[in-house]
Amino acid sequence: MADFSKMNMQEFAREGGYDCACGRNHHVGIKYLCVRPGAIETVPEALQVLGASYPYVVCDHNTYEAAGKKVIALLESAGVKYRLCVLPVREERTRPEELELGTVAMHAHPDCDLILGVGSGVINDICKIYGFMTGKPNMIVGTAPSMDGYASNSSSMEVSNVKTTIYTQLPSAIILDIDIIKNAPMRMLWAGFGDIMAKFLSVCEWKISNIVTGEYYCDNVAGIMRSAANKVIEIAPKLTARDPEAIQIIAEGLIAAGVAMSYAEMSRPASGLEHHFSHMWEMMALERGEPYDLHGIQVGVATLIVCRIYDKLKKFTPDREKAEAFLKNFDEKAWEANVERVFGKTAPEIYAIEKKAGKNSPEKHKARMEAILAHWDEIHQTMMEELPDYDRIYEAMKVTGMPMEPADIGIGAQDVHDAFVCSRDMRDRYLMSSMLWDIGELEDFANEFFPV
Ligand SMILES: [Zn+2]
Ligand SMILES: [Zn+2]
Repeated sequence: MADFSKMNMQEFAREGGYDCACGRNHHVGIKYLCVRPGAIETVPEALQVLGASYPYVVCDHNTYEAAGKKVIALLESAGVKYRLCVLPVREERTRPEELELGTVAMHAHPDCDLILGVGSGVINDICKIYGFMTGKPNMIVGTAPSMDGYASNSSSMEVSNVKTTIYTQLPSAIILDIDIIKNAPMRMLWAGFGDIMAKFLSVCEWKISNIVTGEYYCDNVAGIMRSAANKVIEIAPKLTARDPEAIQIIAEGLIAAGVAMSYAEMSRPASGLEHHFSHMWEMMALERGEPYDLHGIQVGVATLIVCRIYDKLKKFTPDREKAEAFLKNFDEKAWEANVERVFGKTAPEIYAIEKKAGKNSPEKHKARMEAILAHWDEIHQTMMEELPDYDRIYEAMKVTGMPMEPADIGIGAQDVHDAFVCSRDMRDRYLMSSMLWDIGELEDFANEFFPV
């Protein structure tokens, strides 16, 4: 049996994948993967491997300067016909919304046989949707190691101003040139670092969910993220100098996260409660028409918060009486009122998720509560094994100079409190906050850690 935690980029993408002890075949549909200094030179080769002859190059004004120009020069010298779309300057950052997708569609030529994105998260997300909708493959030349969405099959979009995950397609090729991405804005390097620090938590929570709810879990896939997080935390002191080896390790970790999500066929290995904080903050900002920070920056800040709570949980013992009293006295109307207050116009979607999942139903609630009480030793052991000490993560983040606290990224105490309490309502995903709710501790933890 292959040990995924020790595999390199090429091995991840092996055709046919791997039959695993968990009973599944783990595979990822990426045909070409190149992460190294000078990788951009392989663009013509990648096109050849994919059998594409007329790429539609999509970038924005920033990414055109960072790598788009170079891609065009390479295509021209290789004699490859192309069409180019440079998204115009509208705001500081290109947004993943209808206007940009429409711009890409309107500048396209129907004969193009592949969408070649040059950029990071937003450009990749737009190209994935456009490729998916037109039945054409897409590939990405990355310009920043800022998030783990390069190798994922979904796009995180703002649809009518509501943050929405749209399932699209996986890029057929991913090229990350270390010489290029190491020069990305420092905030984007911090974001990539933050998105990987989160993986300690996501793996821990995945395992806890397996214990409490019986959700599918594969330790071999979890090992991919465990190994990436452990490598990335080590290179923290080299990040500010843009050390190429450090950037290489982050870039590989981000690709590995995409691979792990494909292998598991869900985002579980790479996304836990810390990601739900970020999703909640984005949603709140969109609802108010305010700007929000990069995904990985928010996730990094949230990782610290969540680690603090886990530090308490490592010394905690659930109280059966309190848990049973909470189960008995659950007030559906009060829950709805809080959802209404926090989610605003998204509230009906939250009710629909709850209706389908039945997370609040007394029977399911009781079953999970009993599982937690019966298996607390195992849950405790998981936390002890999977999570580094809070101080270790804190020091690693501190040395990079990145934002550490919600206030550093303009997020107020009430929004932190609400994001924590409502994280379990957002999706049908079992989180540490779900576990606290199940044992009647969520409100008390919220008031202790995030007083308002
Ligand atoms: Zn497996
Ligand atoms: Zn992420």
